[in-house]
Amino acid sequence: MSVIGRPNLVGRFLTIRSYHVDKVYNDLSYILTQASKLDEVESPSISRSASVLESAARDASSYSLKLPELCVVPKNTEQVSKCVSYCYENNIPIVPVGARTGLEGGTHALKGGVSFDMSQMKKIIQVNQNDMDCHVEAGLSWRELNDSIKSSGLWFPVDPGASATLGGMASTSASGTNAVKFGTMRENVIGLEVVTKDGSVIATAGRQCRSKKSSAGLNLTNLFVGSEGTLGIITSVRLKLHPLPSSLAVITAAFPGVRDAVESVVQVMQCGIPVARIEFLDQPGVSACYADSKLPYLSPDNPMLFVELHAMSQTALTEQVEILSEIFRSNGSSKFNWSSKQEERTQLWKARHNLHWSILKTKPGYHNIDTDVCVPISKFPEMVEATHKLIEQFKLDAPLMGHAGDGNFHSVILFDGNKEGEFERAKELANEMGRVAISLEGTVTGEHGIGRGKTVLLGEQFDKQTLSLMKTIKMALDPKQLFNPGKVFT
Ligand SMILES: Cc1cc2nc3c(=O)[nH]c(=O)nc-3n(C[C@H](O)[C@H](O)[C@H](O)COP(=O)(O)OP(=O)(O)OC[C@H]3O[C@@H](n4cnc5c(N)ncnc54)[C@H](O)[C@@H]3O)c2cc1C
Repeated sequence: MSVIGRPNLVGRFLTIRSYHVDKVYNDLSYILTQASKLDEVESPSISRSASVLESAARDASSYSLKLPELCVVPKNTEQVSKCVSYCYENNIPIVPVGARTGLEGGTHALKGGVSFDMSQMKKIIQVNQNDMDCHVEAGLSWRELNDSIKSSGLWFPVDPGASATLGGMASTSASGTNAVKFGTMRENVIGLEVVTKDGSVIATAGRQCRSKKSSAGLNLTNLFVGSEGTLGIITSVRLKLHPLPSSLAVITAAFPGVRDAVESVVQVMQCGIPVARIEFLDQPGVSACYADSKLPYLSPDNPMLFVELHAMSQTALTEQVEILSEIFRSNGSSKFNWSSKQEERTQLWKARHNLHWSILKTKPGYHNIDTDVCVPISKFPEMVEATHKLIEQFKLDAPLMGHAGDGNFHSVILFDGNKEGEFERAKELANEMGRVAISLEGTVTGEHGIGRGKTVLLGEQFDKQTLSLMKTIKMALDPKQLFNPGKVFT
């Protein structure tokens, strides 16, 4: 095998001095052709066109973009394995890419190299209806999975606000509005197939294993969940599925102030009411949501909670709604609306999932830093209040919304990209939010990950010894530091 790049291991990251892109293009084209299967859809598997490279690298973050030199679009695991092995041997950075909905610059090719666009690997390999699990390729999105299995009476509840791939979601340990009841990717991934540095294809839970729990060996599944493409490329995912709820209700409630809303969340959680979703929106968040959706039961001048309840029967559901409404009223909520109609449910969660875009519409031409933090539930009110103070102090617009039942919220920090220093100010606000979360015994990110944007904060959340162990594991799996360089670890 020819050596076309020379690693410079002085310093923490190697830099690729040069490699001959033409030769790599030809070699990878040959490898992809050799490993292609007859039944696969014919579409370009490798590209060096500027527009493809840009679209492979650009995610939903506002960091300055760094492009790869090439983009491969594998259609099967063998192609991933052969291409990874080639790149690793030749010291070429490898950047896995899903649907590029990430918010921390995870798909930017900071050291150039080859992007592996996994979005064409979207086969549903197996659905086991009786055991409620499935095995899918990493490029399938959670929405595509749910559309395909609807008729089976099952669903996959992890629902980030964008149509992310299940491989990308495993990589960032994503969650969403349903995590309060169903957990995050960590709780819903049974096992992963991963291509590692020499092209080996490993199965983190065992090749055939789909049992819901296991005490066998080290938990490699949860080593790769949340590793953000820094240890290998996920090619397929085994997931837990859940029965579709039979009776459900959606509730919206407006509150006089932020403290009233968030204290209500704490009380609901402490009472053990089995909410399936409980989302908090501050007043600017509700106002943006209303402007875009015009849902009549929203109260644009107030902070609000959006809640969903699941129950086995209508009677149980009505009981739960009553308890909830009592808690909300005792905290000053006046505008309370509930419905068990599927149509209203769809409208409400569509508006909530679109909130990021609704907020962007409030300031046309502005850029955004979307950040998230997560704290223990009892600290949630303090976290929200401290964040509002910071936002005032930084004189920026930054509506909040979040998966309140988990103590997790997002802020869409809006800034004028043409104004000197605004990006830095917005970034500093996000960093300060992370620091408050650490001081309140929480984490600098509950679901978006570290990417390139929060590496400094990672160093503040963990002590030196723990961080050093993480780096030792990284070096064991990726001694040349070619998997997604510049992300998570610095
Ligand atoms: C409007 C909006 C709302 C969002 N809401 C939420 C939310 O509620 N909850 C939440 O958790 N996130 C949310 N996100 C963030 C984003 O959707 C998640 O981070 C998601 O998990 C990213 O998946 P993706 O397929 O887009 O991955 P990408 O953005 O393509 O990649 C993300 C990271 O995963 C790595 N990666 C991708 N595929 C693989 C693979 N096959 N193997 C190894 N590594 C891989 C990449 O290298 C990168 O580091 C939101 C984003 C947007 C734009």
